[in-house]
Amino acid sequence: MIEIKNLHKRFGKLQVLDGVSFQVEPGGIIAVLGPNGSGKTTILKTILGMVHPQMGEIYFQGNAVLDKWEYRNDIGYLPQIARFPDNLTVQELINMIKNIRDVEADETELVNRFDLKLSLNKKLGNLSGGTRQKVNIVLTFMFDCPLLILDEPTAGLDPVALIQLKELIQEEKQKGKTLLITTHIMSLVEDLSDQIIFLLEGKIYFQGSVEELQEQTQQTDLEHSIAKILQGDV
Ligand code: ADP
Repeated sequence: MIEIKNLHKRFGKLQVLDGVSFQVEPGGIIAVLGPNGSGKTTILKTILGMVHPQMGEIYFQGNAVLDKWEYRNDIGYLPQIARFPDNLTVQELINMIKNIRDVEADETELVNRFDLKLSLNKKLGNLSGGTRQKVNIVLTFMFDCPLLILDEPTAGLDPVALIQLKELIQEEKQKGKTLLITTHIMSLVEDLSDQIIFLLEGKIYFQGSVEELQEQTQQTDLEHSIAKILQGDV
């Protein structure tokens, strides 16, 4: 599904990605983890063509993607910070995004699932952070894309919406989709992910299952495994 070879990205003097290579097979949930500033968002944005690397190759469904754009029709992207025009209503925004993407989409089930029906005619500027994030989720999942890239999808969600999001992610996986997710919520990673990609100092420190990471770090839960890596104990 995705192949990344020897990716290098520098912002000014800051070398964020320093030879990142990994492969993701189609189908399943992959958590991209690492400390703050380790380049998680940069990798996701590079796959999407929003950040241009100094060096490296990216393949999506077997084709090189750098400087191309058509492949993005097959990717759903939930950005970490979604900025919406304050004076549009939720429904107007949904319609606008549907028009821009020009691919089949139906938001009705998602609007009901995330309890947004009464918010459809409200202006985006008047919504709470959690409700905006639910809108962000609807905009991402209403398209039928084989790859979903979710950057901190749980931000601001209440416990009910969090459970609904988890179920939605699992349903998408069951449909055979590939999901690339960054999150600080370790229980989400433990509950959902088939694989972890752990970034440290610009490189892939680990790629494998939660169980394999626990084994490698000799810990019984993910939080302690990661703490051990960050403390430099493994
Ligand atoms: P993460 O998602 O792991 O927290 P990011 O990929 O957002 O990390 O950022 C990695 C580093 O690159 C951070 O130090 C961040 O400040 C820097 N960075 C990201 N985008 C830019 C940019 N457009 N210009 C300059 N520095 C950037």
